[in-house]
Amino acid sequence: MHVDRYAPSPTSDLHLGNLRTALAGWLLARHAGGEWLMRVEDLDRARVRAAGDAERRQLDDLSSLGLHWDGPVARQSERLELYADAVARLDTYECFCTRREIAEASSAPHDGYRAYPGTCRRLSDRQRSELRGSRRPAIRVHAGGATFAVEDATAGRVEGVVDDFVLVRGDGEFAYNLAVVVDDIDMGVTHITRGDDLLSSAPRQAWLTAQLGGSRARYAHVGLVLGPDGRRLAKRDGAVTLRDLPDLSPGDVLATLSESLGLGPCRTTYEALAAMPGDGRFYASATWTDGTLTSPRRPE
Ligand code: GLU
Repeated sequence: MHVDRYAPSPTSDLHLGNLRTALAGWLLARHAGGEWLMRVEDLDRARVRAAGDAERRQLDDLSSLGLHWDGPVARQSERLELYADAVARLDTYECFCTRREIAEASSAPHDGYRAYPGTCRRLSDRQRSELRGSRRPAIRVHAGGATFAVEDATAGRVEGVVDDFVLVRGDGEFAYNLAVVVDDIDMGVTHITRGDDLLSSAPRQAWLTAQLGGSRARYAHVGLVLGPDGRRLAKRDGAVTLRDLPDLSPGDVLATLSESLGLGPCRTTYEALAAMPGDGRFYASATWTDGTLTSPRRPE
């Protein structure tokens, strides 16, 4: 069985790159006769609130393109007990470090992420209880620098060192890496199609999946849509969401997105599906310039 999920954070409208990734996952799931689930990643309450009704706009945009999901929408904010149970089953410790302390003690950031050097693992009970008086601790998992590898449909084998990453933040919110893993296990996800900005998180998440007794998912990290400056598409590039493109019909949007996935100039998703290469390798990154979506690495 092939079960994939799309997991948007409702903090802004979906960009063309998000829609392209959704289309890729939807196509793979439909092509395999599997399921495509929807999970709203709304744990960051403050950012979600600030974004108004972004969840509704995101789901409307996906529906307007015919990217319908299977079953009810799952919302992380309604699944907190599952995350708490998982934390209770893991080998964890409290971490009192501030961002600055971590930056000073750890090696150079990799993909914007600083590996935690394990400072608070070595605290005595006395130090720990003193610190509790002045700071709210985060909860970290004890991973001890394990090396873990995943297989990715685009990038091949990706190996990473798993540091003692955060499961519960200092403000009490469950961390993304925990919630995503617990949900993927609970929802029976077998295939994870998502943006390649998350590729470096995959070894960490696959390691946690194994710790929690889940089966390993297969990954397909899809290239993001880039702006003309080669950076990730953003507001500075002008029209980037469906709301900015009122003159394009859903069929035109789909044709553009599927073409950029290497599927040729299809007019409908069904045509794109029929044209999909058997090995599903259509993940080249794409660039949006002056209203045109182009892909520099189109498969043969
Ligand atoms: N919520 C994440 C995002 O919007 C995606 C998480 C995932 O697919 O694992 O970037």
